[in-house]
Amino acid sequence: MENQKCPICHKGVAYSERYPNYLCGDCVHKATDWEGRAVVFYNTAISGHGCAGEYRDSGEKYHGNSCYVEGIACEAREARFGGIVMERVQ
Ligand SMILES: [Zn+2]
Repeated sequence: MENQKCPICHKGVAYSERYPNYLCGDCVHKATDWEGRAVVFYNTAISGHGCAGEYRDSGEKYHGNSCYVEGIACEAREARFGGIVMERVQ
């Protein structure tokens, strides 16, 4: 059994060979831009492809896939089988 931890809060997460640095759900919800405004990422198509972000407070489009969680640079992208995966940037 492989052990994997969220790279931000170090809580145990399900092992993923493909995404060794993915964030747990709690940390994904803490994502902000570089100024600390909360952002949320979602799939742009019903098929589950594409990844876009917007500001939680205004719904304004957020450009790019980069974000910060607890001051640590992370990046959101579409997961292989749909949904969004957020990973810590090395
Ligand atoms: Zn976490």
